[in-house]
Amino acid sequence: MTDHLAKARRVVVKVGSALLVDSAAGAVKRDWLASLAADIAALKSAGKDVVIVSSGAIALGRRALGLKAGALRLEESQAAAAVGQIRLAQAYVDAFHVHDLAVAQILLTLEDTEERRRYLNARETLTTLLSLRAIPVINENDTVATAEIRYGDNDRLAARVGSMMEADMLVLLSDIDGLYTANPQRDPDARHIPEVRAITPEIERMAEGPVSGFSKGGMESKIAAAKIATAAGTAVIIASGHVMNPLAAIKNSARTTLFVPRISPGQARKRWLAGGLSAEGAVVVDAGCERALLSGKSLLPIGVKSIAGAFDRGDAVVVKNEAGREIGRGLIAYNTEDAKALIGRRTVEIEAILGYRGRDEMIHRDDLAFTGSEEESKP
Ligand code: GLU
Repeated sequence: MTDHLAKARRVVVKVGSALLVDSAAGAVKRDWLASLAADIAALKSAGKDVVIVSSGAIALGRRALGLKAGALRLEESQAAAAVGQIRLAQAYVDAFHVHDLAVAQILLTLEDTEERRRYLNARETLTTLLSLRAIPVINENDTVATAEIRYGDNDRLAARVGSMMEADMLVLLSDIDGLYTANPQRDPDARHIPEVRAITPEIERMAEGPVSGFSKGGMESKIAAAKIATAAGTAVIIASGHVMNPLAAIKNSARTTLFVPRISPGQARKRWLAGGLSAEGAVVVDAGCERALLSGKSLLPIGVKSIAGAFDRGDAVVVKNEAGREIGRGLIAYNTEDAKALIGRRTVEIEAILGYRGRDEMIHRDDLAFTGSEEESKP
């Protein structure tokens, strides 16, 4: 357990409203947030990438707008989110300022992780922010999300972000220190489960609705999130956030539940690329490029012989060699027209040819999976 967080390279931390917002005062629990920021600063110093997914906008905004307790109408929660999100973001800016870390606000809607082109954009921005040592603080864009088009709760959002960013760890800071065989508030015989290796129907039955009256997700949504995350190769820890320095507490062996993935994020992504995608076109590469790909390099325009089909940026395409044999499948960084214009050209020429500075790689190696039979064991 302790090890998993210590070994993780990229961590998503999900913070629930109930932990962050003092419901009586309708304000951010600043001391608690300061302790979380100190933990995250320590993870950063240890060389890890950290992304935060934070709830709290609606909880903060409803109070500021004088909205009454109880369920809000959709327009009311959208309005509350608009007012609360600014306060939420400011609280994070203040908390990380002490550690000289910049905070970046990202508001996502469902399509941003489900639609490939937008997914690539969101991923690129987050990657850039991480490379610049910023701390992305993500929330659902509640002011435009509607009942039909939304993640629904930030547990699922955090799981999607984890898989999009190939995080190896997702920490769900929660009201409760993990999964129990039954609801421990009601059943004195409920037993804590420290580790889950497969999310079976039996495990799913252990989860019930929300524990707190404040946040959207209960144990059910945490299990749903754990399913999404572990399928993408991300381990999940459910831990109590009702302590100061909640991440340090995990390292110091606090009681938690760990969901263990069976594959790594990289393998999960390659499997997804190789399997589930319908290819919109094909890129034929020369022998030198094929060799480069098989040795783990990206696909550069200079190695391309021809382009077939019609695709958009971010679509899946088949990569073939000159004999017509499929080498792999990947997500292409250019649409058909631009890709054709770049055939056989050097990377330095891209801007002059297209009039904008696109990606150096036509298909980045992280976006390429080998599907040709001989290359099964290759990267
Ligand atoms: N996005 C919502 C907010 O910031 C919270 C959703 C959730 O609690 O899961 O208020």
